[in-house]
Amino acid sequence: MNASCLCGEIKLRLHSPFISASTCHCRQCQKSHASANAAYGVALKTDIEWLEGKKKIKKFASSDQVKRGFCKNCGTNIFFYDKSHPNHLDIPLAIFDSKINFEPEYHIYVGSKVSWETINDGLPQYEKEK
Ligand SMILES: [Zn+2]
Ligand SMILES: [Zn+2]
Repeated sequence: MNASCLCGEIKLRLHSPFISASTCHCRQCQKSHASANAAYGVALKTDIEWLEGKKKIKKFASSDQVKRGFCKNCGTNIFFYDKSHPNHLDIPLAIFDSKINFEPEYHIYVGSKVSWETINDGLPQYEKEK
């Protein structure tokens, strides 16, 4: 499965299926993605091959625990890294160009869901983390 940013300078390939995937409605994801939510797949770091532009990723610490990587050029979110899961890198599902073999399984941080978003996919919803 291949993914890229909006300007195309960053390209990556994921070599195995996601471990899990969820849609997050926390304030940090809302701000960072400028969207009501962000769907992420959890990948093993070692399964990610950086094809192009890894050096163009700028990291931002959105909390003591979390670093978010985005394209310096176009601003696309590329990864989410949580210190408490050092072997994992979460990749936004929406940046994959090829068909992904995984869909979000549940919603997290619905406690901070925006008022104009309606969740009606029948998936489990968690107030904060799962
Ligand atoms: Zn870019
Ligand atoms: Zn979030």
